[in-house]
Amino acid sequence: MQPKGLIGNHDLVKKINMEHIINTILQYRPVSRAKIAALTGLNKMTVSSCIDLFLQKGIVVELGTTGTSRGRPPTLVDINELAGICVGIDIEVNQFTLLITDLLGKKLESMVFPMKNKDPMYFVDSVSSILEDLKKTHSHRQLGVVGVGLVIQGYYNISTDVVDYSANLQEWNDFPLRNELVKRIPDLPIYINPAPYAGAIGEVHFGHSRTVDHLVYVTSSWGLSVGVYNKGELFTGTTGTAGRLGHSTIHMNGKKCSCGNRGCWEMYASIKALYELLDTTPQQLPFAEIVRSMDQGDSKITSAVHQLGHYQGIGLANVINAYNPRVICMGGLLALLGPTLINSIWNTLNEMIPRRFLQDVKIYCSDLGELGVAHGGASMVINHLANTIIRHSLEE
Ligand SMILES: [Zn+2]
Repeated sequence: MQPKGLIGNHDLVKKINMEHIINTILQYRPVSRAKIAALTGLNKMTVSSCIDLFLQKGIVVELGTTGTSRGRPPTLVDINELAGICVGIDIEVNQFTLLITDLLGKKLESMVFPMKNKDPMYFVDSVSSILEDLKKTHSHRQLGVVGVGLVIQGYYNISTDVVDYSANLQEWNDFPLRNELVKRIPDLPIYINPAPYAGAIGEVHFGHSRTVDHLVYVTSSWGLSVGVYNKGELFTGTTGTAGRLGHSTIHMNGKKCSCGNRGCWEMYASIKALYELLDTTPQQLPFAEIVRSMDQGDSKITSAVHQLGHYQGIGLANVINAYNPRVICMGGLLALLGPTLINSIWNTLNEMIPRRFLQDVKIYCSDLGELGVAHGGASMVINHLANTIIRHSLEE
């Protein structure tokens, strides 16, 4: 009855089928056409015509066979991981780290660039010229540079598309980061997230939580914040500032926080709090030194980490009650405090929460190391890989 709508629907169905097929390949790779058909519920003709298109575009490859079935064994299909590259960028106050991965997130290269100037336009200028160079270098790949995932200090307002608030880089507040980048590199998809969100999604893609549906990622440097991952999605809230739990009150009339409130969680459980407990500064005592002394059993440092873990536990009790996560992952510098921190967290949690609400919770330290956040940036790109492949495949 509505021919125009029907044509639209046909394209839409084709896109949905393609997305289904790509996501199935990504999840079960390498996988036969017959198994894709069985897993997606699509008929074999539809699956085969999609796969033929992807093969023709060089986005998937055919491998050998499983060798397990009788008769002629099926050919397996896999993603051609070198058909394009993903870029993740971790923006810090004095430098930014750029990570290049293949389409499956395997690290190909990483580089660190200085932030010679806190003006956000300095970053925009330098990163766009780096990305232009990368586009040229990788132009021989079928998909070229697939996209860029930027991890920023502070939060990004997803309704107004500007940097919402960055305590450490205040020059960036209200800066329209995406628009300025799009002006210079218009054909490159750009994804922007704060560090705790990127950490959460990076952990799900690359860490120990690949099959987990509900994860909370806790990260701390000077402040403290959490990222909540729920069944394939990040929990952003209305404008993208969900997870500012570092500013939830755990002490009425406690220490004054930079946010204006008193007794915020991050005043007691952040890396900054650890330095206060030790009555020193990162200049006097680099963090690596703290970790080394803790590992050697230094009693003053071990007791400070225990105290930090106690306060972590108090905040995490709120996290568990609010989100009922399967996994809590400690990221950033906190991750380096390892079992000493985790044991103290458990001691406090066991006193605060009935056992039944804790028995399925797993708490661990991320082992993605200093590239964890940049990996999160690459994950944002990989998360949209199906869309990119579909767009590319439908182009003439
Ligand atoms: Zn606060």
